[in-house]
Amino acid sequence: MVGMPTFAPLPLAAKTTMLRGLGPARAAALEDAGIHTLRDLLWSLPFRHVDRGSVRPMGELELRGLDQPFLEGGREIVTVLGEIRDLRQSTTRVQRLSLTEVLLGDASGTLRLLFFNQPFLAKNLKVGDRLLAFGPLFPGRAGLEMRGPAFELLPKGEDPFVRRYLPLYRKLGALPGRVRARLVQEALERVHAGEELLPLELAKRLPDAMTALRFVHQPPDESDAAQLEARSTPAHQRLAAEELFGFALGITLRKAGRLKRPGLVVPTSAELRERLQAYLPFHLTKAQRRAFKEIVDDLTSGRVMHRLLQGDVGSGKTLVAFLSMAMVAETGGQGALLAPTEVLARQHTANFAKLLGDQAHRMQLLLGPMKAAEKRAALARIASGEAAYVVGTHALFQESAVFHQLQLVVVDEQHRFGVKQREALKEKGGDPHWLVMSATPIPRSLALSVFGDLEHSVLDELPPGRQPITTKLVHPDQAERAWELVRRELASGRQAFVVSPAIDPSDESKVKLRDIQAMESLLRSILPEASIAAVHGRLKPDEMAARMDSFVRGETQVLLATTVIEVGVDVPNATVMVVDHAERFGLSQLHQLRGRVGRGAHRSHFAMISGSETERLKVMVETSDGFKIAQKDLELRGPGEFFGVRQAGLPQFQVADLVRDRLLLQRCRDAAEKALEQGLSEVQKAWLRQESARLRLADVS
Ligand code: ADP
Ligand code: MG
Repeated sequence: MVGMPTFAPLPLAAKTTMLRGLGPARAAALEDAGIHTLRDLLWSLPFRHVDRGSVRPMGELELRGLDQPFLEGGREIVTVLGEIRDLRQSTTRVQRLSLTEVLLGDASGTLRLLFFNQPFLAKNLKVGDRLLAFGPLFPGRAGLEMRGPAFELLPKGEDPFVRRYLPLYRKLGALPGRVRARLVQEALERVHAGEELLPLELAKRLPDAMTALRFVHQPPDESDAAQLEARSTPAHQRLAAEELFGFALGITLRKAGRLKRPGLVVPTSAELRERLQAYLPFHLTKAQRRAFKEIVDDLTSGRVMHRLLQGDVGSGKTLVAFLSMAMVAETGGQGALLAPTEVLARQHTANFAKLLGDQAHRMQLLLGPMKAAEKRAALARIASGEAAYVVGTHALFQESAVFHQLQLVVVDEQHRFGVKQREALKEKGGDPHWLVMSATPIPRSLALSVFGDLEHSVLDELPPGRQPITTKLVHPDQAERAWELVRRELASGRQAFVVSPAIDPSDESKVKLRDIQAMESLLRSILPEASIAAVHGRLKPDEMAARMDSFVRGETQVLLATTVIEVGVDVPNATVMVVDHAERFGLSQLHQLRGRVGRGAHRSHFAMISGSETERLKVMVETSDGFKIAQKDLELRGPGEFFGVRQAGLPQFQVADLVRDRLLLQRCRDAAEKALEQGLSEVQKAWLRQESARLRLADVS
């Protein structure tokens, strides 16, 4: 371009601060978002490509019937482009929500946009601004209105569409999407590709990195809109392959490193086996026997065990964990069991006490809010080794607990613990063995890919004698059918769970939702004789524990809860659970909830009250197989939502998707193993260094 100064080409690894027009505040916004290099910047894709052809003249909008193809929240998402003609800020009468009304106009007509609880918008927008807005249409007081739209502020005057597709970028802190678009543009002009990162078997059939980057940021007019939206073009595949290959190198290397570390050998003997046998109140299931054997093999192998023990709710993971701890405890070591909540830690000690019988004194519970003297005594018993079975919560690593001979750490529901906390516990004793229990039935192929550096045992069988659980989907108009079940079970001496969704107060749709307070009054009116307790996240921990304990002891008949009960109290006498607004829950979550009943000798019932998403919820009626449900859930929600990315410590990819790309990940893992055997190239080594810090592995090491 004539008159434009030329700049030196930059490598992908160059810092973003090398770009023009990036002041300190905006550079900081990029840093905060984890974008340090041009590679980071370019791998962060537009959240949407607006097709010029999809922009609708406002004068021609009409509300499509509800039989139209549904998108987000059951309504079609419409795109409009116009100028702000009017702007007002008010407060709604009923809910006292802040309401910003924007009147947007184009050559054909106008449309009202409504924003809830975003009062700052009235200050950031002004009459005359140009907006590109996307949102669902509703019939309003004066014609159609768009509620809660996403929007993009556009520069005045010029046509925003340079080509058919306009890429939109999310705002990052102080960095508006438009500015990001300009930075991306500049980066694409200045960056040079560098050496090929991928081994040939992955790279063949894919465009090179620079071609791919240009394509995903500035798709040619002839690109397919659906493929762009699904991020499934060969260009996307190239970018995903680079991320997944880096990730695969990371796990392969980590596993190889661990297998080289000497692990403590726990001795076994026929006598030990007999002693363990004596603790068992019943025969192990085949799956439990197999899993325990795998653990014994690890503990005696001379290598450090890192094993994931996966099994559906009620499959008997705790017993396997207990046996593993007993093996260590009976041979002079200590085992620690970490539970996600105090209620669960207490429940584990109660179970262990029963199993241990006259050996119960060798167990020690450690909780955060213990009395000082009690805690001191507990810590002393742990330090001397007198306590061979240690059960606790986060307190185990927050307090100054020192172990005498910590050989095994069992983590219950690993996703509740962050990587850092696991590190902290590891520091308390050499290099203990790890057993991670998870009730989230991750499909096996995915588990192997993601937890690839953990060994993996599966309990795919329930103990015998389980009562089947009858599952019903009940429309809110017929909720009485669910309450009738509850009345009947209470009348025969059983107990009941009622679950309400936790409702975020800023949720605009809450107008129609029944929160836990409303549910409590409802229950008190329809079950006037029953003793009812409500537990939710805002209770003080001791109050929560007191209410849960009272239910466990059978003194409270109905436990009304938000999902705090999800990870598990064991109350065999509870035979019915009713979940209100079931559509607010993921399928796996519902499955976990359902696993709270059907634990005793009596037939149990599970009722979901919901008036929407019937198709999805029907999966619960059709199957009780946790793996099938998880697979369905994963397909519907994607891995991020499914695992709760932050909690699981899963790697966060920009382009790759662990479900969609699982075959590609498998190929990347094979290629990574081969590449490590053959020796990495310089560019691969650099990639591994740069990316492995960012790709947090779901790992316990
Ligand atoms: P999980 O932790 O996998 O959800 P639990 O360990 O809590 O499952 O086991 C669920 C119930 O099954 C417990 O009451 C436990 O005592 C019982 N149980 C476990 N293993 C067996 C078995 N082999 N035979 C009979 N009951 C068992
Ligand atoms: Mg359990």
